[in-house]
Amino acid sequence: LTSKLQETFRKLKGKGKLSEKDVKDAMREVKLALLEADVNYKVVKDFINSVSARAVGQEVMESLTPGQHVIKIVNEELIALLGKSESKLIVSKVPPTIIMFVGLQGAGKTTMAGKLALHLKKHNKRPLLVACDIYRPAAIKQLQVLGAQIDVPVFSLGDKTNPVDIARAGIENGKRNGNDYVIIDTAGRLHIDEELMNELKNIKEAVNPNEILLVVDAMTGQDAVNVAEHFNGNLDITGVILTKLDGDTRGGAAISVNAVTGKPIKFVGTGEKLSDLEIFYPDRMASRILGMGDILSLIEKAQESIDEKKALDLQRKIMQQEYTLDDFLEQMQQMKKMGPLKDLLKMIPGFDASKLGDLDIDEKEMAHTEAIIKSMTKQERQNPSIINASRKKRIARGSGTSIQEVNKLLSGFEQARKMMKQFAGMQKGMKKGKFKF
Ligand code: GDP
Ligand code: MG
Repeated sequence: LTSKLQETFRKLKGKGKLSEKDVKDAMREVKLALLEADVNYKVVKDFINSVSARAVGQEVMESLTPGQHVIKIVNEELIALLGKSESKLIVSKVPPTIIMFVGLQGAGKTTMAGKLALHLKKHNKRPLLVACDIYRPAAIKQLQVLGAQIDVPVFSLGDKTNPVDIARAGIENGKRNGNDYVIIDTAGRLHIDEELMNELKNIKEAVNPNEILLVVDAMTGQDAVNVAEHFNGNLDITGVILTKLDGDTRGGAAISVNAVTGKPIKFVGTGEKLSDLEIFYPDRMASRILGMGDILSLIEKAQESIDEKKALDLQRKIMQQEYTLDDFLEQMQQMKKMGPLKDLLKMIPGFDASKLGDLDIDEKEMAHTEAIIKSMTKQERQNPSIINASRKKRIARGSGTSIQEVNKLLSGFEQARKMMKQFAGMQKGMKKGKFKF
């Protein structure tokens, strides 16, 4: 119990404003996390500089340490950079909505075309796939196979027709057949080249797509910046799709691409199956990239749950030695609000999960403790010394526990209170009235 209390108080220390040193220390960790996630180093540098400047001097939240507070700011800035909330597909006022996929060879365009078609179909849309990659051997066949799997039509004119004409004819075909979405799968190259860029520009001009989505392989990491810059510069893309996030990449490419294009990420690919498509959520990606063992969720939870005013009240009570079973109960309930202890502990980086075995008991014990205190009268809670044998019997019956358990709780509480008195006395002696733990 005491260690839990001390933990609560440790978090209570108001630290005033974030100093340059606080920010610098925490930023070192953030920088490392970003570089490890393969965010482009130049993007990292710019980001760190601008966030550092904003963080210095900010008031530290009572419930956080300065380091945690800096990470909280970084997280918020990262989310803002990644687009704040999910970004929906642009829909044409007059159907069909035309979506053109662009990107390097192997990025996952063709697969993503199939995935998006399936996604739309699930939402009761009628997509058409158009095969404009006439260069890569079997590219048309690949799209046809995917289309057959999900029962979506594929338009093709073979590999002898110009891609611009195929795109045009595909859209006409879609209009005739009442397709409300036309997805154009284009060719890629291993590296950016002008011939390809010109072809893509020509298709864009010919069909005027509602969306030009750049498909980027999340594993390309540092390179993503060049790719994004080039495609965006030439085609003025409307959005980005990040594929292969199922690998061990932390997805730093998302930040790089966003930073250089300013265009939203709309979807992510998380596997080779056609159902492996997810809507992009900036907050999830930010935590993934920062990758601090979900420490961010921990910060958020602490923020939501610990009622600061109550905690300060409690501190005052201990100083004045009026800590009661009611306070004890309230403290427990605050801890409970933070979710099962187990979940909470799992979020701590480097925490050894094998130690979690005993914790179930701890939580059960907490439930018993709560039941026992709730079975007491107000006077009993304020002044446990009046709890005699017959009261104990009543409390045990009321809480569905045993007299032994009631005794255990009472002696535990008494011990805790004694320790806190000593603790409070010590503090008082050291710092007249100023609470510093
Ligand atoms: P394209 O050249 O841009 O059309 O790329 P493809 O769609 O042909 O994909 C290239 C390779 O990447 C194929 O082997 C796909 O199965 C694979 N691929 C595509 N998207 C994903 C993904 O999200 N996860 C994984 N693991 N593989 C993917
Ligand atoms: Mg392809």
